[in-house]
Amino acid sequence: MTYSIHEALQRIGVVDQPAAVAVGTKWQTGAGELLTGKSPIDGSTLATFNEATLGDVGLVVDTAQSAFLKWREVPAPRRGEFVRLLGEALREHKADLATIVSWEAGKITQEAIGEVQEMIDICDFAVGLSRQLYGKTIASERPGHRLMEQWHPLGPIGVISAFNFPVAVWAWNAMLAFVCGDTVIWKPSEKTPLCAIACQQIVNQVAQNFPEAPNGISNLIIGGAEIGNALAEHHDVPLISATGSIPMGRAVATTVAKRLGRSLLELGGNNAMIVTESADLEMTVRSALFSAVGTCGQRCTSLRRLIVHESIADQLLSALKNAYQRLPIGNPLEPGTLVGPLVDQRALETMQHALKTAKQQGGIVHFGHQIDETEYADGCYVHPAIVEMPGQTDIVQQETFAPILYVMRYRTLDEAIEMHNAVPQGLSSAIMTNDIRQAEQFLSPAGSDCGIANVNVGPSGAEIGGAFGGEKETGGGRESGSDAWKAYMRRTTNTINYSTELPLAQGIKFDL
Ligand code: NAD
Repeated sequence: MTYSIHEALQRIGVVDQPAAVAVGTKWQTGAGELLTGKSPIDGSTLATFNEATLGDVGLVVDTAQSAFLKWREVPAPRRGEFVRLLGEALREHKADLATIVSWEAGKITQEAIGEVQEMIDICDFAVGLSRQLYGKTIASERPGHRLMEQWHPLGPIGVISAFNFPVAVWAWNAMLAFVCGDTVIWKPSEKTPLCAIACQQIVNQVAQNFPEAPNGISNLIIGGAEIGNALAEHHDVPLISATGSIPMGRAVATTVAKRLGRSLLELGGNNAMIVTESADLEMTVRSALFSAVGTCGQRCTSLRRLIVHESIADQLLSALKNAYQRLPIGNPLEPGTLVGPLVDQRALETMQHALKTAKQQGGIVHFGHQIDETEYADGCYVHPAIVEMPGQTDIVQQETFAPILYVMRYRTLDEAIEMHNAVPQGLSSAIMTNDIRQAEQFLSPAGSDCGIANVNVGPSGAEIGGAFGGEKETGGGRESGSDAWKAYMRRTTNTINYSTELPLAQGIKFDL
């Protein structure tokens, strides 16, 4: 990619000064606080504009609600056609969007392109789904009766997203919501507003040429936590899908629960890999490396804990240290770079604080230092860290959103699985083994307690076909593939009596 973020935005059609609110296809300047978007690559200012205000929340929700009343009546396969066209537009702008993702989130080109590919994949998935929103027919206990389920559109869906997947998380939610007959209000991370503006612009262009798409099918509102909170409070938003940190999820879940709404939570992970004595070590190093240092350790599924059998620990550690030594770290737009920057100074401070704490708790830290080269100006570049820990201390049980890989040793698989599950988060997990008994034990009810459990595949980098999400403090939500679509619809159970009798359920007699 040789062009700048501004060229990429222009090619998508974002030519004016960025605006914080899109009420459907109408852009509106915000009147809230000044937002300065900075690039993690070099700290340069990418955009400056005013955020939305709380008053804008009501406006976008009303628009999304009016649009919903129309969109829910469009047949689902036609809604699928709308998403198919969105997929085409994303294909056309794949490189442009990836450029914006790299500049705003600091992802290396390969991973930024991969993120846009994920958007395209979920479009394809959703198109197929638009003809498969199946309900069940159930055997009725009463003669002359039919019992069935239908899935109906739910309403405007509020999507609150994190900085580290600035376009894909929206697509996972929005594409399913669109085929399910819902409209969308997106509150993106205030750290990646241009990614959101670009996506909204792409939807607007497709919607304007799709006669059945009502104005307000897709809406955008840019601002901080208070805007997200106002969306979570709003009674006309039946589902809030929130992706981000555990404290954010706790706040959103409480607010939504107060009004008895639904929330779909995709929160922090503390993902581990168990490496057994029979593991293929070469494959383990490669898969641990991508999972631990990819996206500079800023994925919800990043590998944070390596639980290694004591008989192979020294060998694996030395191979890993060797690989870490050779990591190409630097400008994510340069070909060959594998590790880009942390998102901001705060992330850097959090990482350094965690390493200090780990040392105090008995850890031996390898690497982890800041790379302070003038060519990076104000970018926050670090050498990913490996930390040998004597056990799973307090700091290991927290998600530090940075490239820190804690390494612990174990003797028996039971002990390893116990250690694996002894953290508050439950997103993704992996076992590296060539022993089928060990693999099956890890996948069994007494094995990994995570939403994602892999064998000989690292915890990071899920495919969109499976349901994505995790247990415990990760929030319990499921997005993307499989039957995750059901969260975006309401189920009705229908009983139809086609007889001339009126038998009651459970054999109850109630005759005068
Ligand atoms: P964050 O929690 O700081 O922010 C996420 C979003 O929530 C932002 O849009 C923010 O403005 C909003 N927000 C914050 N407080 C809020 C509140 N009280 N009410 C409503 N909205 C609020 O997270 P981040 O730093 O952007 O992202 C990193 C975190 O996200 C990590 O913990 C990571 O594991 C998690 N994450 C999880 C998944 C997943 O699918 N499980 C995916 C990506 C990131």
